[in-house]
Amino acid sequence: MEKIVGHLINGQLVADNGGRRQDVYNPATGEVTKQVALATKATVEEAITAADKAFPAWRNTSPAKRSQVMFKLKVLLEEHSETICNMITDEHGKVHHDAMGELTRAIENVEFACGAPQLLKGEHSKNVGTSIDSWSEFQPLGVVAGITPFNFPAMVPFWMWPLAVVCGNTFVLKPSERTPTASLFMAQLALEAGLPAGVLNVVMGDKEAVDTLLNDSRVQAVSFVGSTPIAEYIYSTATANGKRVQALGGAKNHAILMPDADIDNAVSAIMGAAYGSCGERCMALPIVVAVGEETGDTVVEKVKAELAMMKIGPGRDNNNDMGPLVTKAHFEKVTGYVDLGVEEGATLVVDGRNIAIEGYEKGYFLGGCLFDHVTPEMKIYKDEIFGPVLGIVRVTTQQEAMDLINDHEYGNGTCIFTRDGESARYFTDNIKVGMVGVNVPLPVPVSYQSFGGWKRSLFGDLSMYGPDGIRFWTRRKTITQRWPSSSIREGAKFSFPSNN
Ligand code: NAD
Repeated sequence: MEKIVGHLINGQLVADNGGRRQDVYNPATGEVTKQVALATKATVEEAITAADKAFPAWRNTSPAKRSQVMFKLKVLLEEHSETICNMITDEHGKVHHDAMGELTRAIENVEFACGAPQLLKGEHSKNVGTSIDSWSEFQPLGVVAGITPFNFPAMVPFWMWPLAVVCGNTFVLKPSERTPTASLFMAQLALEAGLPAGVLNVVMGDKEAVDTLLNDSRVQAVSFVGSTPIAEYIYSTATANGKRVQALGGAKNHAILMPDADIDNAVSAIMGAAYGSCGERCMALPIVVAVGEETGDTVVEKVKAELAMMKIGPGRDNNNDMGPLVTKAHFEKVTGYVDLGVEEGATLVVDGRNIAIEGYEKGYFLGGCLFDHVTPEMKIYKDEIFGPVLGIVRVTTQQEAMDLINDHEYGNGTCIFTRDGESARYFTDNIKVGMVGVNVPLPVPVSYQSFGGWKRSLFGDLSMYGPDGIRFWTRRKTITQRWPSSSIREGAKFSFPSNN
């Protein structure tokens, strides 16, 4: 074993030699390429202590200086983009061009964070009473933490920590133990950009590390992205410990395909959204609800034809459309759902099981699968599969399609394909989902908006990054200040202060 991915604490790489470790795989080859250290409680506490010690000086550093680090970081990230994308591909499996898309979104969050001096300006009211001015300012919380999933090793940590630190907080990041390398490398680039030691710490690990963050009283806020059962656990545990929490969970996003849609463009969009990144995106599109039998028949035929042309292979080859699934365990889970769909009575139109990629026979490759006649009682409809499995549900009206979406436990993303403005407007007004597209299959908000689902896709009140991110990482303080003229003498007043 040539390599161990360790922690970054107080500006130093810590190997944690001798502690618990876990294998990290290259999903294209099935080989163990390195091990990741799994932090003990003591290691995580060391990181929290480093963040706690760094807080007073960082809090008092001007927002302009904090944002200058972000300007330098953006340049470094762009310079090292090839290296970062290769790290992502070699642990996650996604194709290089897809990794570049994720990295670009990560950098956009750095660009937003560059605006810290503007974003933190506060709100001022002059003369709220005689000689009295009042203003709200947004102060940092202190030590805060982020816990992230495997599927976006560059982007999701960057939804959190750049904004948190430009707001004056100090941070402990716990990336996914399945895809740890890019998150660590990008944190090292932040040090190179001038982030002082201790402001950003990275601990690798599993439940032990996470539980330490949730239970340590010095951690003021926790931002989480991952599956719904863990999101719910994080939310209930950390809020019970008095912390501010935003916990983003899983999804089962539906697109409605209306009979009047531009069907060829819709199918192109559906292909990327359903099978891009092997379906391992929380904004992936695993369900298409076709309105009308003819729409259903057409979409099935066209997706089937597209699947025959889809290029599957290792993510290092940029000509491929789709790489492997992340781990063997996940591969078995997803193929298990394909088996189940057949048992449940859905029609397996395209079967991606048992594909072989020459030279990569031990990789976790699953071909694109397409089910027709999926119904709402089926587990393949209800559960988040997180793989390249698209299900077609057939209904007769737009309202029926919308009722399905509104009744589903998740409410992350959705989309309608139509040429009719009235249908689209009715959809955007009445659909119970946090991120909504009209002819946009992956309506992932840009960094200066905010990202968040509804229902069991998000636990907490504030969405991720953008304007909500600023609110999440700061605490409002309202100051009322009076500088009376010394020439005016005022007696004591016992009534409640007001403008009466
Ligand atoms: P996961 O829930 O297994 O892991 C997420 C994080 O939680 C990891 O850092 C992991 O180490 C930690 N964790 C796992 N089990 C834990 C436990 N028992 N106690 C404490 N911590 C634990 O998720 P994943 O498989 O890495 O990622 C895929 C999931 O993330 C999917 O459900 C996907 O929809 C979701 N996701 C959601 C969004 C969103 O924005 N809503 C974005 C990306 C991914």
